[in-house]
Amino acid sequence: MLPQPPLDDRRDPAPSPAGAVLDALPRPAAARLAVRVTRDAVRQLRNGHPWLYEGSIRSVDRTGSPGDLAVVFDDDRRFVAIGLWDPASPIRLKVLQRNRPAQIDVAWFRARLEEAVAIREPLHRTAGTQGATTAYRVVHGENDGLPGLVVDRYGDVAVLKLYTAAWIPHLAVLVPLVGELLGLRSIVLRLARSLHDQARHGLEEGMSLLGPEVTTNVEFLEHGLRFEADVRRGQKTGHFLDQRDNRALVGSMAAGASVLDVFSCTGGFTVHAAAGGARAVRSVDSSPGAIELARRNVQLNANLPAVAACAHDTVVGEAFGVLEGLVEARARFDLVVVDPPSFTRAATGVDRALAAYARLTTLALALVQRGGTLFQASCSSRVAMAEFVRTVHAAAGEAGYDLEEVARTGHPVDHPIGFPEGEYLKALVVRPARRPGARADPRPRARR
Ligand code: SAH
Repeated sequence: MLPQPPLDDRRDPAPSPAGAVLDALPRPAAARLAVRVTRDAVRQLRNGHPWLYEGSIRSVDRTGSPGDLAVVFDDDRRFVAIGLWDPASPIRLKVLQRNRPAQIDVAWFRARLEEAVAIREPLHRTAGTQGATTAYRVVHGENDGLPGLVVDRYGDVAVLKLYTAAWIPHLAVLVPLVGELLGLRSIVLRLARSLHDQARHGLEEGMSLLGPEVTTNVEFLEHGLRFEADVRRGQKTGHFLDQRDNRALVGSMAAGASVLDVFSCTGGFTVHAAAGGARAVRSVDSSPGAIELARRNVQLNANLPAVAACAHDTVVGEAFGVLEGLVEARARFDLVVVDPPSFTRAATGVDRALAAYARLTTLALALVQRGGTLFQASCSSRVAMAEFVRTVHAAAGEAGYDLEEVARTGHPVDHPIGFPEGEYLKALVVRPARRPGARADPRPRARR
């Protein structure tokens, strides 16, 4: 194990100017906007859809600022929903509550947050047990009734990530509540890329909104294994929490295996595979910073005999190219993990995304040892499970394999699915078997 000073000593104890920043933020206008929308939009909102598109709006009684509260009425002037006005986004209103009028105040936010916290109680209860998980998503945006807002907890630090500037006028209420309900030391702010060129009112990426500035990586446990996250600069909020259970699954299949972890990021699957008894693990990612942290995360667990005995090596590189090189070199692994980034955000990109998944399947299968296993995931919300499964099987068939399915997995408990677009994560675990008479050369025919 690396010598580690206690966590307390590694954080800058200097108080942050957090309070002053929150106090200086704009507040929502006292008067609410009144919005009339199409019949179709009324129906969708009543059915629970959290978004109102700009194109569905018939009239608004005035111009609003980001985060002003807006009420949608139907043709009979009946209440439909209340939400955050978001003039910079085509999703012009993000619904906070439907059907029943509400005062969106401290009590309202507290109730919503308490509901969200309650859902994560099973994870919270693991604290202090051998398989403890101390990092999990506490607020998952729309799916927890707080559209465009993510709160990920890493022990006593939380990352609050905004996907819309409409939250800015509500932070002064929200931040102290989150801090209190979770018993946090610090809350770190992250801003989605779309916010970088909008008015930010002194808010900066990585700053503390509550408690002292966080100046080092934050340590946490995932199923009892140690990790660090760079919460200020790392991808998403520092760790891809959504794959936690899939990592444990992969770990449970890793005993004695040689493992290839493609799109490894900071080594989530790598560490679980090593702890699960993998003989060797190779992590591949294009981000040098992520790979560096993957190495460190393995080291953090080197007190475990299985991890100490595992040969870990890393490759910084473009995954498709690295896979092609490995196929060319006729490398083989007992277990191949493929967990790419989302390949499309738009409906128009679905075909291209499916082609990329197929290509990854083809390349990965060529690297799976006889009797071995492939884990392949997709986090494109535009690609449904059925389509993904069909694509993987079709690509396998093309390459001369039948696949025995070991598992299909979806969302973990801290990533609830509240509306159709909220379902994005799916994974497939398969054991390939060569079809009799299939080509001996497993190299993929089509280039990407
Ligand atoms: N498996 C990871 C999460 C993967 S997220 C985990 O368990 O934490 C997707 C990763 O793909 C990111 O780390 C990103 O740096 C990497 N990435 C994106 N495009 C890539 C490419 N073309 N080649 C290699 N890595 C890529």
